[in-house]
Amino acid sequence: MTDIKSLSLAELEEKIVSWQEPKYRAKQVFEWLHKHLAGDVSEMTNLPKKFREKLAEEFYFPKLETADKLVSEADGTIKFLFRLEDSNVIESVLMRYEHGYSVCISSQVGCRMGCSFCASTIGGKIRDLTAGEMLEQIYHIEKFLKDPENTSEKKGSFRVSNVVVMGTGEPFDNFENFCRFYERISDPDGFNLSGRNITVSTCGLADKIYDLAEKDYSLTLAISLHAPNDILRQQIMPVARAFTISQIMKACDHYFAKTGRRITFEYSLINDVNDTEECARELSMLLKGKNCHVNLIPVNPVKERNYTRSDRNRTMAFKNILEKNGINATIRRGMGRDIDAACGQLRRSYYEKADC
Ligand code: SAH
Repeated sequence: MTDIKSLSLAELEEKIVSWQEPKYRAKQVFEWLHKHLAGDVSEMTNLPKKFREKLAEEFYFPKLETADKLVSEADGTIKFLFRLEDSNVIESVLMRYEHGYSVCISSQVGCRMGCSFCASTIGGKIRDLTAGEMLEQIYHIEKFLKDPENTSEKKGSFRVSNVVVMGTGEPFDNFENFCRFYERISDPDGFNLSGRNITVSTCGLADKIYDLAEKDYSLTLAISLHAPNDILRQQIMPVARAFTISQIMKACDHYFAKTGRRITFEYSLINDVNDTEECARELSMLLKGKNCHVNLIPVNPVKERNYTRSDRNRTMAFKNILEKNGINATIRRGMGRDIDAACGQLRRSYYEKADC
C-alpha cells in the first residue's frame, strides 16, 4: 500500500480524482497531513465519512509510537525512541540551540555502511524507512513541542526550525525515499521548512552526489570524510573501498559548480588514529581553495568500540592547522552524550536489548 505522506499534492490529486472525487479534496487531505499534522483520517473532521474510509482503505498511514524518551541532564537534549508498526525501534534527537529547535532524524532501521566508530551500523541494516516515516519523526516532535505540557518556558517559538538527516542510516542508500521526504517537508503547502534549514549527511556515495546535483534542492550537503587519504579512510570506513576520496572530491566539485552551495566536510577526531598534525596538513592540501566548511567532531564513545576522543589540545591544534591554510573549521558540540544521543551513538533498538 502506498505511504500517503510520501505523495506530492499532484500525485494525491491524480488518485483522488480517479475516484470521481473533487480535486480540492486532495489539497484538504494534504494540508491535514502536512500542515495540521493529522495522524490518521479520524482527525480530518471536515471531510465526508465515506471519503475518509476510502482514504484509510487505499493508503498506508505511517505511524510512530513513542516507546521512550530520554532527557540529557547536561544540555536538555531529548532522545525519542519511536516504535514503527513492524515493531522496529528507531531513534530521533531533539536539540535546543539559541536559534531554535533542531531535530536529527534516522533514515533507515540500522545501517549497512559499517563505519568502525559508529553504533548505528552494529547489527547491519534491517530496512529503509519510508518518506512518511522520516516525516513522522519530525511531526511527532513538533506536536510534542507544541503541547504546553512539555515546555517549561512560556515564550518563544515552539517549532522545529532545523532538520539534520544524521541519525541512524545512510540517507543516500535510501535515496528515492530521502528525496520524497525532502520535497514533502519543504513543500509550501505543507510543513514548509526551508531547504536552507535542512542538512543531509552521507558517508560519500559519490554517484548519489551527482544525482543530488540534478535536483533543485537548497539543502546543505555534508560529507563524512574522517580521513585525508584512502589508506586511512579504508581502515575506518569500509565504504572507502567503493568510492575513493578523489571520486568523492570530483563529485563534490561537480555539485558545487552546479548548485553554488558550500559543502560541509565532517571529520570525527579519533585519538592517535586520524588526529595527527600530519593528517591536518594532508586534509588542508585536499581542501585548499575549495569553498567548504570543516566540522570537527571529537569522536563520541560507543561501548562496543575502543576508540578514544581527541582531547582539547589535539582538537585545537588540528583546527589551527586547517585555519592557517584558509580552511573554515568549527568544532561540533557533542549534544546529548550522556544519553547516547550524540553523533554515532544512535542505534537500531535499545528496546530489543532490554527485552531479551
Ligand atoms: N550515514 C550518514 C549519516 C549518519 S552519521 C553519514 O555517514 O554521514 C552523522 C555523522 O556522525 C557522520 O559524519 C558520522 O560519520 C559521524 N559519526 C559516526 N559515529 C560517530 C562517533 N562515534 N563520534 C562522532 N561522530 C560520529
